[in-house]
Amino acid sequence: MTFPRSVQPLPDVERALAVAAHPDDIDFGASGTVARWVDEGIDVMFLVVTRGDAGGFDETPREQMPSLREAEQRAAAKAVGVEQVEFLDGYADGVLTPSIELRRDITRVIRRYRPDRILTSSPLRRWERIAGPSHPDHLAVGEATTCAIYPDARNPFAFPELLREEGLQPWVVREVWYHGGPSPDHAVDVTATYSRKLAALAAHVTQTSHEDVEARMRPVFELNARNAGLPEGSVAEVFTVLRTA
Ligand SMILES: [Zn+2]
Repeated sequence: MTFPRSVQPLPDVERALAVAAHPDDIDFGASGTVARWVDEGIDVMFLVVTRGDAGGFDETPREQMPSLREAEQRAAAKAVGVEQVEFLDGYADGVLTPSIELRRDITRVIRRYRPDRILTSSPLRRWERIAGPSHPDHLAVGEATTCAIYPDARNPFAFPELLREEGLQPWVVREVWYHGGPSPDHAVDVTATYSRKLAALAAHVTQTSHEDVEARMRPVFELNARNAGLPEGSVAEVFTVLRTA
């Protein structure tokens, strides 16, 4: 199973919502692109499902991890120009499923924020590499977000309490960008925003301070750029972009 070919991105996006399982997912996969969207005048918001309480490599006491990682994600978002960061409550790192509750909670944010575009993790697994992008939490959030895009957010009869009790009208998201999936075919040149992406990654101190992230990641982004035919020395992030309306 794989994705169809990417479409040309919409030219008239005003708001984009990025939905992630963990603090740092957006920054590893897509924050150079997010920084470009901010530069283009698009309003961007991050929604993070967990506070990453199962992550980290250092001696940080585990009970401090959720608040530390929330603060790190807010600092990372700021590094790429994103001020709006929300976290869901009640979801633990490592045990996410595309549950009805998660679909409802993502739908609530979609109906409130009314994004034209959603960026999220791929619901499709990359079988050639079991670790990293295909973490089950990432797959679960990609699937739940896709279900929230269609049918939940646009169907007034899905989660009727959102309309009845919170006054949240149905909303049609028109485009989705998946990162971390199989055979991504839409490359974004992030050479100009790469320093901001690195600053965002460095803000995730509990996750990245034990290694040279730049040394590990740069070859990946250079290969993306080379595969896309960009000039030598460029770096790129890659996605699958699909129309959802
Ligand atoms: Zn993650």
